[in-house]
Amino acid sequence: MIPWAVTRNYGTLLYWKCSVCHDGTKTEPIPATGHSFGAWKQTKAPTALKKGTKTRICSNCKAVEKQDIKKLKAKIKLNVKSIPLQVKKSTTAVKVTSKAKGDSIKSWKSNKPKIASVTSKGKITGKKVGTAKIKVTLKSNVSATVTVKVQNPWGYHRVFHLFPMLWMLMPRQLAMVPLENRKD
Ligand SMILES: [Zn+2]
Repeated sequence: MIPWAVTRNYGTLLYWKCSVCHDGTKTEPIPATGHSFGAWKQTKAPTALKKGTKTRICSNCKAVEKQDIKKLKAKIKLNVKSIPLQVKKSTTAVKVTSKAKGDSIKSWKSNKPKIASVTSKGKITGKKVGTAKIKVTLKSNVSATVTVKVQNPWGYHRVFHLFPMLWMLMPRQLAMVPLENRKD
């Protein structure tokens, strides 16, 4: 006779099945020694989205006990905190560099789509000069934000980096006033 299951009256009765004819069952009280469970073994790994399972087996009666393993703690990290982007240019440079196993990206969202828009795949496009925040959310609902600074490719400062001679030709007082503050 071999034991095959402990289904009802758990802890008080054993259900046996004949190892030769695989037929006929009988019940017996569990021996006074009771269960003697071995160590827990992980039988299904948890992920960020799903619980796992651990199992232990009684060496006396082969009873199986199962327990859930908590989901993995969700986390998210991006490769950058802030990126510059020119108007009319696109980038896919923002990446999730750290997340819990089993997790994946649920959405990308811009707080100012008129300044920087973003597709569901994370392609960011500069629309006009300004600053936008792009939020990446994972399926586990953790999120992270990257700041996108959209610049004019021929903006005031950049021109002088490329052609320093222009700076020399510029009237001094005008040259000291940042473009954003000028009224003309
Ligand atoms: Zn047992």
